[in-house]
Amino acid sequence: MADLLDFSSRVIDSGVADAPVNRVTQELSELRDDLAIVESFSHSVVVDSGEGLIAFDTSAGNTGRAVVEEIARWRSQPVTHLMYTHGHADHVGGSREFAARWESPVVVGHSNVAHRFDRYERTNNWNLDINLRQFGGIRADLNLGLVTDDDDPAGDFAPASSERRWRSFLPKGTLRPTLEVDDHHSMTIGAVDIEAHHARGETDDHLWFWLPQSRTIMAGDFLIWNFPNAGNPQKVQRYPGEWAAALRAMAAMDPELIVPAHGLPITGTERIQRVLNDIASALEYLVSTVVNLMNDGATLDEIIHTVSLPADTLALPYLRPLYDEPEFVVHNVWRMYGGWWDKAPSRLKPAPDARLAEVLASMTGGPDALLTEAERQATANDLRVACHLADLAGWAAPDDPEVHQRRSAIYLLRRKSEPSLMAKGIFAAAAKESQAIVDANSGADTDKD
Ligand SMILES: [Zn+2]
Repeated sequence: MADLLDFSSRVIDSGVADAPVNRVTQELSELRDDLAIVESFSHSVVVDSGEGLIAFDTSAGNTGRAVVEEIARWRSQPVTHLMYTHGHADHVGGSREFAARWESPVVVGHSNVAHRFDRYERTNNWNLDINLRQFGGIRADLNLGLVTDDDDPAGDFAPASSERRWRSFLPKGTLRPTLEVDDHHSMTIGAVDIEAHHARGETDDHLWFWLPQSRTIMAGDFLIWNFPNAGNPQKVQRYPGEWAAALRAMAAMDPELIVPAHGLPITGTERIQRVLNDIASALEYLVSTVVNLMNDGATLDEIIHTVSLPADTLALPYLRPLYDEPEFVVHNVWRMYGGWWDKAPSRLKPAPDARLAEVLASMTGGPDALLTEAERQATANDLRVACHLADLAGWAAPDDPEVHQRRSAIYLLRRKSEPSLMAKGIFAAAAKESQAIVDANSGADTDKD
């Protein structure tokens, strides 16, 4: 029972994650007599109210059934209530499996969840593509969680985008909230008092739940045992400042147990305070530093290459940038308080990429010359510059298999050099995009029909 809490205490107290902390075991662990967690993607956290079970998050469409089976093995009572921390597919996609097992649970969620579901329908293929890219650069190992130090460069690319057209980003049959919460909502279910609190953080539809009798918080994705997902380059606005404020509000409750939707539950008031306040401080630092620089007239370029967090902060076992990263949060702060323009005048109304690339290539000796310099910069470890040059070469020679073979190699190096899943995924997709051009134009491809 206490294994999971002992593990998280040991990791936090020592500052060393000596085993993976983002686990997807699909197994239930009891944290208290009346409280259990199924570690999945996302976790589902279950409370026995004495009059049925309350499940906080439902895991994803493809993991929900195993989660439901684990819960049913734990207790014979039905799940009467589903509490959505937010409307991301990995938190609500399993709801159909709960509904298939236990008739018509009450579904509690923020009032923006329904708007999110509508948006997912409107932008279905866009969201499928994003997720293929985002999770396509790493090996998705169920037992280790999604982030691994995988050294195999070519093996794990996402499936071809032609496979996606028939799929639905939000699993079909996902339940919509039947009880919508705006700012706050208090309820009593069986013997359990629950306060739902809305705050924006990763999303605009996020709730965190306070159970005052047991001084327990269900934190959803406000706590993910990675650097906060407040920067994601491919998704809609995140709210790093409000995220930090929510963490401070949780800490002010003096919780004795906090259970996140990813990563480990944490026990002990002092330990919880330290974790919540460390994460809040990191986010607050990024927000205030970027805003100060914006007020000082800095460009986005200056801000991106000036603002960072200390290495010892990013080494904390609950702040490692293995999923999202501070540089992406900087962009989101800029987007939140500024506009999309980065203050470089030429990028207000830019030339087509291919046109500029053609001109630069013809000035410098052609796409080959650009790539030769790209490779030299890569060898000298300036992969940022190397990738710019490789892109220019690729745009100048969009169908040239030789050029794209070399561009692909540079992006594979880039992918290996980056710690975050989001960067790895996008750079792996760039390598794959060039590889597809190689395959289509090298003449060696015999399986086109
Ligand atoms: Zn999540």
